[in-house]
Amino acid sequence: MTMALCCAALAVQAQSTTKPAIPRDAALEQRIEQQLANMSLDEKIGQMLELNLDVMGKTKVENAQVDREKVRSVLQQYGRSPEETETMLQMTDQQIIDRLGAFPVDIYKGETKRVWQLNETMLDTLISKWKVGSILNAPGSSAPSVEEWQKWIRLIQEKSMKYLNIPDLYGLDHNHGVTYTRGGILFPQPINLGASFNTELARRGAEITAYESRAANCPWVFNPVVDLSRDPRWPRVWESFGEDAILNSKMVVAEIKGYQGDDPNHIDRFHVGTSTKHYFAYGAPWSGKDRTPAYLSPQMIREKYFEPFRQAALAGTLTMMVNSASINGVPVHASYEYLTQWLKEDLGWDGMLVTDWADINNLFTREHVAKDKKDAIRIAINAGIDMSMDPYSVEFCILLKELVNEGKVPMSRIDDAVRRILRVKYRLGLFEEPNTGGKGFEKFGSAEFAAASRHAAEESIVLLKNEGNILPLTSGKILLTGPNANQMRCLHGGWSYTWQGSRAENLTEQYNTIYEALSNKYGKDNIILEQGVTYNEEGAYYDEHEPQIDKAVAAAAQADLIIACIGENSYTETPGNLTDLWLSANQRNLVKELAKTGKPIVLVLNEGRPRLIADIEPLAKAVVDIFIPGNYGADALADLLAGDANFSAKMPYTYPREINSLNTYDYKVSEEVGTMAGAYNYDAKVSLQWPFGYGMSYTTFEYSNLRVDKAQFTANDVLTVTVDVKNTGNRVGKEAVLLYSSDIVASIVPDNKRLRDFTKIELQPGETKTVTFQLPASELAFVGADGKWVLEEGDFTLRIGNQTAAINCTATKKWNTPNK
Ligand code: BGC
Repeated sequence: MTMALCCAALAVQAQSTTKPAIPRDAALEQRIEQQLANMSLDEKIGQMLELNLDVMGKTKVENAQVDREKVRSVLQQYGRSPEETETMLQMTDQQIIDRLGAFPVDIYKGETKRVWQLNETMLDTLISKWKVGSILNAPGSSAPSVEEWQKWIRLIQEKSMKYLNIPDLYGLDHNHGVTYTRGGILFPQPINLGASFNTELARRGAEITAYESRAANCPWVFNPVVDLSRDPRWPRVWESFGEDAILNSKMVVAEIKGYQGDDPNHIDRFHVGTSTKHYFAYGAPWSGKDRTPAYLSPQMIREKYFEPFRQAALAGTLTMMVNSASINGVPVHASYEYLTQWLKEDLGWDGMLVTDWADINNLFTREHVAKDKKDAIRIAINAGIDMSMDPYSVEFCILLKELVNEGKVPMSRIDDAVRRILRVKYRLGLFEEPNTGGKGFEKFGSAEFAAASRHAAEESIVLLKNEGNILPLTSGKILLTGPNANQMRCLHGGWSYTWQGSRAENLTEQYNTIYEALSNKYGKDNIILEQGVTYNEEGAYYDEHEPQIDKAVAAAAQADLIIACIGENSYTETPGNLTDLWLSANQRNLVKELAKTGKPIVLVLNEGRPRLIADIEPLAKAVVDIFIPGNYGADALADLLAGDANFSAKMPYTYPREINSLNTYDYKVSEEVGTMAGAYNYDAKVSLQWPFGYGMSYTTFEYSNLRVDKAQFTANDVLTVTVDVKNTGNRVGKEAVLLYSSDIVASIVPDNKRLRDFTKIELQPGETKTVTFQLPASELAFVGADGKWVLEEGDFTLRIGNQTAAINCTATKKWNTPNK
């Protein structure tokens, strides 16, 4: 009892003394209070529900005849049980269409035309009766036009203002550009931006996406993603900026500025609200499969997975979306500690927390921590969830009202949630201007925006190998081969026009595949296209047609050099799960057979995660990783291969060589142990294909003269670290300069090294620049065995390029606060 009282008192104190992450705007807060004071319980609960647009309309499919084999394959891909599959296969065509027709999947024989129609009566009911405050998603099978969005969202806003006097908060997964708006610009995926190590590219891309979203009348995007891609098996590796906490932190801060502008309290009509996601540790599933549990040490949780979200809160992200899965057995949607204490109280963050897709339901259907839906709502809302993305049902409203009336969810919690939701709507200026677009948005899809995407792609492609300087390629006949050589889908990836990035060919005709871009660059006569292996677009993302490797081998006779474009087709979430990290056998066989021709091979890797290629890498003279480079990725690649542009990207994650060595760069020192004296060999080896931070250029850089202003320091010091970088080659080039630290001896096993800061500079041939980092010494602290931050006295090494400096901490400091 005493203990509980004491904790409560401490919590109150923490709340009242914490500086708000976003400065309070008194006038805005007053408007929120006035609004809240006039709202009924039904109106408040309605604000807390987010529905899927699909429930407000119907997809009409013309000439629809269901292909049951396609239905079976779709249900298998989405993990439906054999029983569910058989039940659905027994249904009539119309019943199957009613259930699956709205989803972006192909279940029809031959060509069909699908038209989605908004049902105004249904919209009326949902807003007037259920008082729904937020709607998400794109309907039907492919990205609507700006005009369609204008029409639909305008109608939603009109009804919201008419019945509720509160605007709707419309949200879209505009993740790397305007995913769901036809004709807008798609940027390279976040993993590419991570590889660019250029935060300005991330900021500019976000700014353009914000503008194009508002052109489509959408004020809220479910981005940035900072899940930390630390498990190469996970199907969403490419959706964040890579494996490191600082890389993700600096990128997320830049993107929030790009999306929201400079003042989170007053976001103008050209900017949008962000939903940083998926809070947190979503990218570390033990099984490697999407939405499965993570088991993580307190150190990893606090020092790494939490850090980019902490930075996002301090940078003023208006909302965050929560991790669907669990950490150490606790589903994040049910964690008062993570949602309320860590985010809202410890950081003084007054933003809004939205669930991921149906995730309150999942607390009982999947996670088994609640006995039914009502119990799940009680747990999640009391834990700190403000808005439930419950796509297809209004049951949430009924059950939450019962819970309030039964005293199981306090009214103060409802008021807090609704305040947070209203705050987002006020901050976005939606009360004054619920609709945007039209005049002033003429730059939508412009050449200026396209150039920004192309530039970002150019800086995000990594040169991993270049034996005998085989690149740049200036002459000769090229055999272009591999499944990724001639399609756009794998270049734009998932969340592109459709959820899985599939079936969008008619929207991408104006962009160049690798074949088209290389034909433009070198002349069509100099490119022989013989793919050898192709993807089966009718099947799962990993399905390939019967290979025709012999055809590619025969074509090689006419070529001087082979460019093999290999990797993955597009996917996201559960449909992107895999059972084997090795690149497909067909693709590896293609490279092996081509190698026998003796013609030099350049591998172009176009993949969302590092698929193992240890057996074919030695067969290649050059390797280029393009990740998922977006609409203009192939053009950027052509410029780089031809030497019209220079490579400047570095690996945003560790590329493994072996299936049992899935390390990250910041592994514990004891993960890498060689032979010890005597007979026993530990044989614990970190065996990598390419390390995090690795990447080559057509020029060379020399690092020298690493200096630290204080050889001895304590926790309150800021260390000034400088290094000289010289371009020693004969081409202009950009270099990402990475500052690492290592703690030599610590009370718990230290990490091998940690990235602390980075920047990117451009150098003319022969030019030298001095790079300066300001490193607060407190950044060298870690979370100790007792769960508290500590900076321990002793030796550290700072490292930039091949330069090192030894420094020494003279006094231990321990923090009693959750954050330093
Ligand atoms: C994904 C989220 C996405 C949401 C809304 C979920 O399935 O995990 O990343 O924002 O759907 O589309």
